[in-house]
Amino acid sequence: MSKDTAIERRERRVGRGADVPASWGLGEGQAIPWEYASAPEARDIVDIKPRYGLFVGGKEIAPRSGEWFTTIDPSTEEPLAEIARANAADVDHAVGVARRAFRRSWGDLPGAERAKYLFRIARILQERSREFAVLESLNSGKPIKESRDVDVPLSAAHFWYYAGWADKLDYAFPGRVAKPLGVAAQVIPWNFPLLMLSWKIAPALAAGNTVILKPASSTPLTALLFADVCRQADLPPGVVNIVTGPGEIGMSLVRHPDVDKVAFTGSTAVGKLIGKAVAGTDKALTLELGGKAANIVFDDAPLDQAIEGIVNGIFFNQGEVCCAGSRLFVQENIAEPLVAKLKDRLSTLRVGDPLDKNTDVGAINNAAQLAKIEELVESGVAEGAEIFQPACELPERGFFFRPTLFTGVAQSHRIAQEEIFGPVLSVLTFRTPDEAVEKANNTPYGLSAGVWTEKGSRIFAIVKRMRAGVVWANTFNRFDPTSPFGGYKESGFGREGGVHGMHAYVRLEDR
Ligand code: NDP
Repeated sequence: MSKDTAIERRERRVGRGADVPASWGLGEGQAIPWEYASAPEARDIVDIKPRYGLFVGGKEIAPRSGEWFTTIDPSTEEPLAEIARANAADVDHAVGVARRAFRRSWGDLPGAERAKYLFRIARILQERSREFAVLESLNSGKPIKESRDVDVPLSAAHFWYYAGWADKLDYAFPGRVAKPLGVAAQVIPWNFPLLMLSWKIAPALAAGNTVILKPASSTPLTALLFADVCRQADLPPGVVNIVTGPGEIGMSLVRHPDVDKVAFTGSTAVGKLIGKAVAGTDKALTLELGGKAANIVFDDAPLDQAIEGIVNGIFFNQGEVCCAGSRLFVQENIAEPLVAKLKDRLSTLRVGDPLDKNTDVGAINNAAQLAKIEELVESGVAEGAEIFQPACELPERGFFFRPTLFTGVAQSHRIAQEEIFGPVLSVLTFRTPDEAVEKANNTPYGLSAGVWTEKGSRIFAIVKRMRAGVVWANTFNRFDPTSPFGGYKESGFGREGGVHGMHAYVRLEDR
């Protein structure tokens, strides 16, 4: 460990004199003479086994493939555990087990009985919340304050919420009879491993379906801990099955002829492959794909509040968020003060150990994602945008990337067009509301957007014209289980959350 003083460390991070943001009111040559002491969350609450099999039929089983892969901690690159690598035979077995569970127990269970299991799962998630938060941060790289305050509580909230619907489907769909679809294949990404699991599993079970879930290869651990929650809740065997393995296993699952419903969250590229695989079958499909959200700030917006919303919009979860506010549109006459404030704010973000309670920006989830971010940032510089990165110190090991701000961005730049999925913000300007809307909608995506203005009438006028599934006004990245979420265009189709999310898991028949 370095024996540097706090002042020396701080000076290396923010520099001296001219590098210190002017708004701190410091004179030439002065540096902030203090540093946050580290406040690591204890990791011994988590008991990581050396090896995890597949969770099928209510028990852990060895993969038929006989193969395993290693999952790591992205902040240190150290191995955490060996994980079963399923093959097509494992998928076939899991689908058969899920089908039997649907026929023999779950599909005909009264809603009020299904609700009891969901309530139980919600309660156990809350009871074991610290364990889940620490494990999520270890395996995904996200800051503990986010896994603790967002991912885990929202996951439990989804189970509470959908438990409430399980015996009220007649009210959810008045005049119709809601029947479960059957066996649901669910493939999820690495950016919100437990939360995406909950978005998928809670409505599926509430509606009476059984599931096979494939977590992302880089983040299987909280899904496998969730298997333990299912056992603890006495969920009938085979109702929830968790199959780990590479992307091709996701595709085997999607293509399996005995699957009735496919739900996918991930990249638009894979979403298109899944769309093609499902086309021509009678499988139901929902796709939650990428995004390139516009966050629009008008000159009457409360700037300091907007700065916090912008920062939350793009640096929450290292920007690895499908609805991240990655394109900032600022009204031209306030661009200069807003960008100055943003640079100051970026310089205060603490990047580092995900388990440190002070950390704002943790590790990028995997090496491939880091390489993608680096490549896109290099393209931004090469295409002529102006880059700003605070002089923060990055840990020597692990996949870390500095919070990054680009100004002078043109609509044609790759950083304004492509989903970066990292802590990188592109700033563009506009003069009139029409121009803002036109530029904001100029993207193949349509997942989310944000509007910042003091004027309520302007909010309604802009929101109506945004081609995005979710539009936040004077806030960003707010989620609630009662509220539907989903996209347009290349951001996918179908909704998760709310009664809309339940609709995706039922067949409606006439009375
Ligand atoms: P993917 O879309 O490849 O992965 C999402 C899930 O799909 C994972 O479980 C993955 O498995 C699985 N998968 C991969 N290939 C297939 C396939 N052919 N058929 C079925 N399932 C498959 O995302 P990546 O992790 O590769 O990330 C790439 C980019 O996608 C990111 O840079 C980002 O831009 C975007 N992305 C968007 C997300 C969103 O929420 N909108 C989430 C994650 C990524 P495995 O992990 O084993 O490969």
